[in-house]
Amino acid sequence: MLPSRLPDPVPPARHEIAASYIGRLATLHGLNISTLWTQTTIREPSGGMRRIIVPERLAALTGRTVYELAGALPELRTPQPDWAMFRHQPQPGCRYCDTKHPGGEVTRIIPHHRYVCTRHQIWICPSDADGHTTRLDALPEIVQAQRRHLRILRRHGWAITYDAVLTAMLICGQLWSLPENENGEARNEWVRRANVLIPPGTAEATFSVARLCAVAYPEAVALAPLLASPYWRQQAQRTTWNRHLFNAEIARRLRHPNYSYKDHDNDPISHWANMIAKRPPLDPIRVHDQEHHLRKPALRTATQLAQQRQAHAFDPSHRAGAPLVAHRHLATVFRRAWDPIRRHVVSPDGNSYYQL
Ligand SMILES: [Zn+2]
Repeated sequence: MLPSRLPDPVPPARHEIAASYIGRLATLHGLNISTLWTQTTIREPSGGMRRIIVPERLAALTGRTVYELAGALPELRTPQPDWAMFRHQPQPGCRYCDTKHPGGEVTRIIPHHRYVCTRHQIWICPSDADGHTTRLDALPEIVQAQRRHLRILRRHGWAITYDAVLTAMLICGQLWSLPENENGEARNEWVRRANVLIPPGTAEATFSVARLCAVAYPEAVALAPLLASPYWRQQAQRTTWNRHLFNAEIARRLRHPNYSYKDHDNDPISHWANMIAKRPPLDPIRVHDQEHHLRKPALRTATQLAQQRQAHAFDPSHRAGAPLVAHRHLATVFRRAWDPIRRHVVSPDGNSYYQL
């Protein structure tokens, strides 16, 4: 028989998924997780197999108000949050923040714009094999980039910021994949940071695409406001001869003094200006689904093998951005880069849309 009220109802963590919180409560009290899950959930009214949380039951069990629980647990909010602004898969957060939450691993559903725990200087994105232990003490510009990222969010909202930062990350990965003399001074920074996070000779143990993402993050965040800005998007769409201002701004942000428009798609910035600047921001391909993602997924064997191959071949000074370009974290913007070109159409009633 389960108690109606737990003697030690620890609080939930911010953005924790309900299954993680209930699992920790069960562990702390020596209870069976399935039994506690059943006590706090009901079958969904539509008759499916899925069970949904009853906030009042969790409130009664913990002695905490529904309002207090919903402040930390997004699944308990009414109305439901816009799940598109969260990563679709739950993941661990900062392991140092988690030490104050007993009862086992804390699994969270994290918004797209959270890449760094600025308090503990830990890299927390994307979900990857390194267990979120990547310390950024020696790379304060990555922590600073998270603060700049939040300023972009406040100015443009989550959807434009999501698209701009991921697109900028893809562009940085593509630049880092070009021959050495074509990717500007940012490359020197990428090599330097990569040597800190993946010290030479240790790639077999330290390599992860999450760390490559951290390496390129400051330049991605420097580039993103330009990709998000309506003014610069307009400038980017002007004719080749009239793009001087846009090119100069790119050169300044990427410390790439010789940057100029190139009339081929090998230059990812020219490709963005020619093909993508006129398109609306993308929604994430996949959105959090409470039915299928109650727990964080384990890294698949195929993914682990791919990472081992990439680690073996890793050389930060030679086209090292390729694994970042191909990583699933950038899938939304990567697919668009290879999309058929769509035509911008304005209908008679004034609505603007894109047509294949
Ligand atoms: Zn932390």
